[in-house]
Amino acid sequence: MIDLHCHSHYSDGALSPEKLLSQAVSNHVRMLALTDHDTVDGVIPLIEAAQHLPIQIITGIELSVRWKKHDIHILGLNLDPKNESLNALLLTQKQNRMERARKIASLLNQYGINNAFDKALEISGQGEIGRPHFAKVLVQEGVVSDFQAAFSRFLGRGRKAYVATQWLSIQQAVGGILSAGGEAVIAHPLKYKLTRTKLHELIVDFKEAGGKGFEVVSGDTHVLQRNTLSGLCERFNLLASTGSDYHGDNLSRIRLGQQPQLPLNCTPIWHQWTF
Ligand code: AMP
Ligand code: MN
Ligand code: MN
Ligand code: MN
Repeated sequence: MIDLHCHSHYSDGALSPEKLLSQAVSNHVRMLALTDHDTVDGVIPLIEAAQHLPIQIITGIELSVRWKKHDIHILGLNLDPKNESLNALLLTQKQNRMERARKIASLLNQYGINNAFDKALEISGQGEIGRPHFAKVLVQEGVVSDFQAAFSRFLGRGRKAYVATQWLSIQQAVGGILSAGGEAVIAHPLKYKLTRTKLHELIVDFKEAGGKGFEVVSGDTHVLQRNTLSGLCERFNLLASTGSDYHGDNLSRIRLGQQPQLPLNCTPIWHQWTF
């Protein structure tokens, strides 16, 4: 099993890198990338914890990108977490996240939900603050009945407390990943609900920026979706990636490394990796 997409409590995942690692080992994952949102803070602890275990750790990140008014996620794999250009970008993302969190809280305040910033910040702990932490506040306060409803009523694109954010451009994100010696991958390409034309445009812009990878299998995608994506991989000469996008047992339908197999017609992104 190979899993190149998951989250720890350094972003919106439930588990520490060490706990993720022990789950990965019991699930027979032989190659694992931790891809927290806009941070590499969990990468070094994960590598250290895995030193004497039979598992290959791949350094990773999931960068938030603003592209034509859509929020797109770009994975960076096999990169140097200490790279300066990358870390300069991460600093602006951190500021973006804090600023956005304050704006989300002030919108929620208009709906009678008080102190959401402090509450979300507390839930996020040492992790980068994000919408899932606000979703937890909304559930906790009894404003919505579940996590999903927090997004469909308040936090999702275009909803009551959605804040359009000036994330990195696709050129900045892919550029940062390349300067850190890594490879860029478009994460979960069908989650953005783009038209076919728009998805093709995204791929063209991504490739022009130096991107090479495409996440063909992400979480519990349907076979038809996987076939669509592997077709695009062939058509646009992209390398295929796979990951569970695991956030924790209560947040994800499938477990670490338990996502479906990559379709056979695509070339895996790891095919030329050597360690
Ligand atoms: P952020 O990066 O703070 O904008 O948060 C994005 C994260 O929120 C994603 O990585 C998911 O973990 C989660 N998320 C986004 N949309 C939804 C949704 N509709 N339902 C549940 N979780 C979501
Ligand atoms: Mn997430
Ligand atoms: Mn994502
Ligand atoms: Mn993710």
